[in-house]
Amino acid sequence: MKVAIIGGGIVGATAAYYLSKENDLDVTVFDSGHGQATKAAAGIISPWFSKRRNKAWYRMARLGADFYQTLVADLKADGFDTSFYQQSGIYLLKKKEKSLKDLLELAQERRQESPLIGDLELVALEEAKKTFPDLQGFDQAIFASGAARVEGAELTQTLLSAAACPVIEKVVKLELVDGAYLIDNQVFDKVILATGAWLPQMLSPLGYKVDVRPQKGQLTDYFFDDLETSDYPVLMPEGELDIIPFTAGKISVGASHENDKGYDLTLDDAILSGLEVEAQAFFPKISEANRKQHRVGTRAYTSDFSPFYGQVPDLSGVFAASGLGSSGLTTGPLIGHNLVGLLLGKETSLETSDYPIENYIEK
Ligand SMILES: Cc1cc2nc3c(=O)[nH]c(=O)nc-3n(C[C@H](O)[C@H](O)[C@H](O)COP(=O)(O)OP(=O)(O)OC[C@H]3O[C@@H](n4cnc5c(N)ncnc54)[C@H](O)[C@@H]3O)c2cc1C
Repeated sequence: MKVAIIGGGIVGATAAYYLSKENDLDVTVFDSGHGQATKAAAGIISPWFSKRRNKAWYRMARLGADFYQTLVADLKADGFDTSFYQQSGIYLLKKKEKSLKDLLELAQERRQESPLIGDLELVALEEAKKTFPDLQGFDQAIFASGAARVEGAELTQTLLSAAACPVIEKVVKLELVDGAYLIDNQVFDKVILATGAWLPQMLSPLGYKVDVRPQKGQLTDYFFDDLETSDYPVLMPEGELDIIPFTAGKISVGASHENDKGYDLTLDDAILSGLEVEAQAFFPKISEANRKQHRVGTRAYTSDFSPFYGQVPDLSGVFAASGLGSSGLTTGPLIGHNLVGLLLGKETSLETSDYPIENYIEK
């Protein structure tokens, strides 16, 4: 069976990896890489503190965080370096003490079904500085030891190397010719559309209306020659700002959520410097970085901010996922794995009807 995956972000790369474990499958990935959200992501995996009321979304997000344990174990067993994922913990801040205590209570409740959260406690600034020196700007934080950070670009590279399938770097179209699926002059039996924010462009030539919109996201990576940042926890104040330490002295600061910029990928100095100023209030050392670089990508979101996946209505053998929004690095691997289950007719871990594709894709 010949399977095409269009899109090599987190969803497509995970699908490629798990499909490559099946016998008698010939998998090809097509990915332009342009504007990819996965490469631009901040990489925080910590869904348990979300106040969103959408239960189906929360189930997907908490199971998505859990699924990293499986993904990392599978890649390790296949002999791959998995340092792209590290549970270095998180400090969460709230302006009001009561909000902090309420959030701690919520997380303690959620820990019963999600032990991955790990240790949960209120810590004073002085305590937090022992694991993330030079912090300031708050008295107390919630610490959760099981929260993780992921290098999106490294993760997809690892998955695609492990899949060992051809990855063709170009923009492609899906065509339906005499009942066959044609992509880049090749015929495929089954197709996965993992095109993120570009699903409307993929499906509208085939007569579909797709409820997916682009959201621009920008962040900055700061590099410090003299800091050993590998074990620093993530710092998540209220609002858009997050401070995410990675290995080798890299600390990322982001990210913007811009709904009115379409697919624009130009860097906006005003937004990036605004985030830097906000970050200085908590980590003044940011202004001493030896160098910095910016990243920008396009997230996909739907009118009710819910992700979806499944078989494209009336296109037997064509599966799609999109609308992963701000939490797609958390949910993406699980969605990719579930798409593979659907394509192979196997049991899936999520209830597909909870994320109904027909609500977002209409012929
Ligand atoms: C700045 C920023 C910060 C974020 N931070 C976090 C975070 O901390 N935690 C979290 O959980 N999530 C985060 N996210 C969200 C997460 O990154 C995305 O939801 C997720 O990566 C989406 O994955 P995807 O595979 O659906 O799409 P993408 O990663 O966008 O991949 C889609 C790919 O398809 C390709 N493509 C599209 N059309 C075609 C075509 N016609 N032909 C060939 N290729 C095509 C694109 O070029 C792209 O490479 C962040 C996103 C951004 C932008």
